[in-house]
Amino acid sequence: MKKMLAIALALCLMIPALTAFAADGKLVMGTNAAFPPYEYYDGDKIVGIDAEAAAAIAEKLGLELEIVDMDFSAIINAVASGKVDIGMAGMTVTDERLQSVNFSDSYATGVQVIIVKEDSPIASLDDLYAEGASYKIGVQEATTGDIYCTDDFGEDAVLKYKTGPDAVLALLSGKVDCVIIDNEPAKAFVADNEGLKILETAYAVEEYAIAIALDNVDLLEKINDALNELMEDGTLDAIVAKYISAK
Ligand code: GLN
Repeated sequence: MKKMLAIALALCLMIPALTAFAADGKLVMGTNAAFPPYEYYDGDKIVGIDAEAAAAIAEKLGLELEIVDMDFSAIINAVASGKVDIGMAGMTVTDERLQSVNFSDSYATGVQVIIVKEDSPIASLDDLYAEGASYKIGVQEATTGDIYCTDDFGEDAVLKYKTGPDAVLALLSGKVDCVIIDNEPAKAFVADNEGLKILETAYAVEEYAIAIALDNVDLLEKINDALNELMEDGTLDAIVAKYISAK
């Protein structure tokens, strides 16, 4: 009798633990697939470092990965409200985001860099801060580039776009004087468009990690275990090498 009670109790305890994440054997990832080489469309498929790393994590957890594309600004809420299980989007760990979600261990470093036209008068970060300077800065809405620039240069100086490519288009058409965005997407955008360059001086250095709902501590642990295995056995390095050439 006691044994049966114990089993019944164990089952009751297990059920919420199993349904707390990854319903239907799926791991649902929220991302913004306009951020090469981390997440972008190849035809109608979302590929990239985050997409492949998430697939490898899902496989370790015995789950099937499903990727949901959304505005970057919607990801944290989607994670916090349980609409998606994880947010993986070259997402920087910040104190403000830590109020709403947990972050896994970091799996990459990001650097906020400045993209300008090749003939731009802006030669370094200092030029943006110069006395009397009134440059317009294009950013991707709700990213750290947006948050830091709005803090440093004020609302009026910062033009917010839904995606990095939209901000780059604004630079090409002269609506903004520079774009501040993460270094790897910046390299991809500069390679895809003539007449742009990245300045030597960086704006900020950050850590990328996977966002998970605050109450989903079980998933946080599982993701960290899987992620660390992938970092230790070289899988993550191989994925990165596939998307980022060493040159
Ligand atoms: N790393 C930046 C951030 O977390 C930008 C991420 C992105 O645009 N996908 O805000």
